[in-house]
Amino acid sequence: MREAVFFRDPLWPEEWIDTRNLLHWHRTKVYGTRPLQDVTRIVIHHVGVETKLEGIQLCQVTARFHVQDKGYPGIGYHFMIPRTGGIFLSNAPEVISYHCGEIYNPSAIGICLEGKFTEGVEPTYHQFIAAFTILQGLRELGINWTLVQGHRELRPTDCPGDSFLGPVGWKARLFSEELGEAREKIQSMKATFQKIIELAQIGCKNPSHK
Ligand SMILES: [Zn+2]
Repeated sequence: MREAVFFRDPLWPEEWIDTRNLLHWHRTKVYGTRPLQDVTRIVIHHVGVETKLEGIQLCQVTARFHVQDKGYPGIGYHFMIPRTGGIFLSNAPEVISYHCGEIYNPSAIGICLEGKFTEGVEPTYHQFIAAFTILQGLRELGINWTLVQGHRELRPTDCPGDSFLGPVGWKARLFSEELGEAREKIQSMKATFQKIIELAQIGCKNPSHK
């Protein structure tokens, strides 16, 4: 069994990264896998309800819901980002998990942000930093995504909220230069993030999260 990896920066909130050993998985069902070249899009989700969860409870509660209520093999998302801006890995990038329908799942990585982004509510600054770190970090690892889309751009759903699209929507800010002032922080998070992903890829060839 792999240890969950814990990394904490005293100047930054929670940074749990690989949460897989701490999540609920289906007893028999297992997600399929794919070569990383198949990943072409990143799909953004929100939790969609107000939550008061601490640390990796966000992933644990979501995993239990996806397995027990939806019958999935495990949590549907690859990454979750709490309001405090940590990065939680919940599936390796090779895993074809369930988060945006059977047409798109095989080519998609799902990132879910804690919160409900309606009526002008947007992700926190820390969440933007974490999302930026994931997007850039994956690309530098050779995952050549070309699209970042909201769940609602692909499926009939409100997710990730009505503040996502449009001229003042927060989608564009996922790539924003405004985050430049956090560049040093992003560099250090990215280095840790990439190490975790590399370990997760090794783990994926010999799944041991169950
Ligand atoms: Zn969604």
